[in-house]
Amino acid sequence: MKQQIIPGITHWQSPSFFAFFPSSESTAGFMGEMLSTGLNVVGFNWLSSPAATELESTVMDWLGQELKLPKEFLFTGHGGGVMLGTTYEALLTTLVAARDRMLNHIGHDKNGKLVVYGSDQTHCAVEKAAHIAGFHPENFRAIKTSISSSYSLQPKSLLETVENDIRNGLVPCYLCATVGTTSTTAVDPVGALCHVTKKYRMWVHIDGAYEGSACICPEFRYLIDGVEDADSFSLNAHKWFLTNLDCCCLWVKDPLSLIRSLSTNASYLHNNASESKGVVDYKDWQITLSRRFRALKLWMVLRSYGVSNLRNFLRSHVEMAKKFEELVKADKRFEIVVPRNLAMVCFRLKPLSVDSDGNEMNRKLLDSVNNSGRLYMSHAMVEGMFVIRCAVGATLTQEGHVIMAWKEVQEHANAINSK
Ligand SMILES: *Cc1c(COP(=O)(O)O)cnc(C)c1O
Repeated sequence: MKQQIIPGITHWQSPSFFAFFPSSESTAGFMGEMLSTGLNVVGFNWLSSPAATELESTVMDWLGQELKLPKEFLFTGHGGGVMLGTTYEALLTTLVAARDRMLNHIGHDKNGKLVVYGSDQTHCAVEKAAHIAGFHPENFRAIKTSISSSYSLQPKSLLETVENDIRNGLVPCYLCATVGTTSTTAVDPVGALCHVTKKYRMWVHIDGAYEGSACICPEFRYLIDGVEDADSFSLNAHKWFLTNLDCCCLWVKDPLSLIRSLSTNASYLHNNASESKGVVDYKDWQITLSRRFRALKLWMVLRSYGVSNLRNFLRSHVEMAKKFEELVKADKRFEIVVPRNLAMVCFRLKPLSVDSDGNEMNRKLLDSVNNSGRLYMSHAMVEGMFVIRCAVGATLTQEGHVIMAWKEVQEHANAINSK
């Protein structure tokens, strides 16, 4: 282990890990994972482990309430939530439900006409899931965004794209709006986008994989304003909510649309509980049949730390990112690429001349910083621009780590500039 494995590990739990998005773990999350692994129940339907299903429904309603999701997304309001492995699964699940809902309405011979929308910042998982769900490869729209609107999807651009498709005989089916895109944490304006999609009976999914967790804080809840008009919402509790991998929480307003698409009815699974229609059979809410007991993990995180501590945990990361941003701003060689909204800062060295895009220099800087082995940041390409991303969110990160990281970046910048 010490000789062969640890040296080959990327240390996601290091307090100086600022790459990608965090994978914040916790003792409670770890204990929950261990218990669920030890119990090793399979939980495909209610009867196969009633407590697993009941706890999952309870926890999903609990977290949904803390996020101030409209009642329609909760079991107490005829909606409901399910814990999947990853966001990709949430996307595939909802794409299949959206596809069938539309085809039931317009006829199953029109599969090739359905169109899926996102922006050019939408996670690549959407296109992959659309492909696997059988949407025609040419019917995926990555609508262009620009720096002038901080890379958020503009309702006007969506409307134009949708109307153009309709003129060409196509059928708008699904929109993925993102709250906190992977490259720059752009926030698509959920309410205004839903206003556009309403007329076309499209399914709107909100991908809040990273920033969705922050919506438990009242001051950040505005990020999902308009969620009441969407069909589904998901976040990764394994990203920024202290819940060890994997745990994607998906809420839907109309669970029946999932069940209609994804249910199975083998005779060997028949049982009185399912027949009573009074229980949830989660196998009908997801791609796979067998499933893990993830609820124990998230329940232990919520119970052990409490919602107010979790809020403060997220806030502390936002404050640290704010600090990092101030440090970047104070050094005139650098620039902030897009305004920070929560805990990720996108920055770069300003190009030295007007003829240079500065990409090579920034790429060198990032390589040099990461090769030091003292911290880890990652990059994104937006509109041809190489951007360095500093995402604060590891469980053990403190302000000192952020300050140290910035000093390290400055030192490597000095070395590059003096060459
Ligand atoms: C991380 C991320 C994803 C992919 O999440 P998985 O759980 O790995 O499938 C999708 N969308 C956004 C916005 C993300 O940040």
